[in-house]
Amino acid sequence: MDRIRTISKQLFLDMDGVLSDFGTAVIRHYSLPVELYELDSWWKIIDIYCETYEGKTVNDFWNGFDYLFWVNIPKTKECDTILAMVEQYKPVLLTTCSSKRDGSSAAGKLTWIAKYLPDYYADGRYFIGASDKSVVSGENKVLIDDSQDNYNNWWRKGGEGILVPRPWNLMGDKVDVLEVIYEQLENIMEEEY
Ligand SMILES: [Mg+2]
Repeated sequence: MDRIRTISKQLFLDMDGVLSDFGTAVIRHYSLPVELYELDSWWKIIDIYCETYEGKTVNDFWNGFDYLFWVNIPKTKECDTILAMVEQYKPVLLTTCSSKRDGSSAAGKLTWIAKYLPDYYADGRYFIGASDKSVVSGENKVLIDDSQDNYNNWWRKGGEGILVPRPWNLMGDKVDVLEVIYEQLENIMEEEY
């Protein structure tokens, strides 16, 4: 009798910029004079922060977020549709913490998951890491992310990436964000083995 080997791909789902509207929360938190969806590089937010608050540094930027900041980040407008789109694959949330090492970022993110994604919280379907998320990449590992660097590094480490079009990545010119995610998802998850 032939042995049948089923390989299933594990899907990972980024939070900031995909499910949670981190950029909008940052701009509000610091009252920055900028429109998030006009930025061609996410890191410009930090430049604008340093220009707005003279003498402040990149570390100050990251250290300015406390537990409640992380808890109160709004969902992105695509959040619920993306979750519905991927639910059949039982994804695991994969997110990293800010450079502030007092634990408020990890704790706040965990509470955010409990508040907005109670099923993921109850099932323990999340990884909150403190380093480069590509350490989790590899064969049959799929990541949905809005960061060009995370996407590139994920592919480099042997996994397959799905890029969420945002002005700050190379798919920034795509108008229909959900359609572009869906096309990539279909291509990657429905490959024949
Ligand atoms: Mg992100």
